[in-house]
Amino acid sequence: MKPAIADGHVVTIHYKLTLDDGSIADQSVGGEPLVYLHGSQNIVPGLERQLTGKKVGEKLDVVVAANEGYGDYDPAKDTSVPKAQFPPNIDLEPGMAFQTRDRLGRSMPVWVQAVKGDQVTITGNHPLAGQRLNFAVEIVDCRRATHEEKQHGHAHGPGGHHHH
Ligand code: ZN
Repeated sequence: MKPAIADGHVVTIHYKLTLDDGSIADQSVGGEPLVYLHGSQNIVPGLERQLTGKKVGEKLDVVVAANEGYGDYDPAKDTSVPKAQFPPNIDLEPGMAFQTRDRLGRSMPVWVQAVKGDQVTITGNHPLAGQRLNFAVEIVDCRRATHEEKQHGHAHGPGGHHHH
């Protein structure tokens, strides 16, 4: 008997993420399923919350509001920087992600929005910020996490992290 989904479990799902305009933003269907550690913010909060208590074999539609997904769109996170601040060997394109540091030195992702002349518009808004997320989910597996996985805050093994 597989456990129901709860914090501290490694969960395997297949999912399809559709936006309100009908476009498919992301999906695992047809590829490798997603393996994640439940309760460790490996996935967006609204999806994690609504999967809690669900069982292996269940198929469900999960609607996640923007503020429980990739966040509301915050124009204050958009900024323009000189192209010269980027390494010269990089072909800057909209949608590219970079890691930067905030004032407290924490790692923070930013995305390129547009390149105009010698200026690059970057944003701390995730490309899916402000969007309602419509997930079709199939729960493939659920098992208790190992001590090491809990310490690391992510799943190991097939489909998980392979960094060690
Ligand atoms: Zn690890």
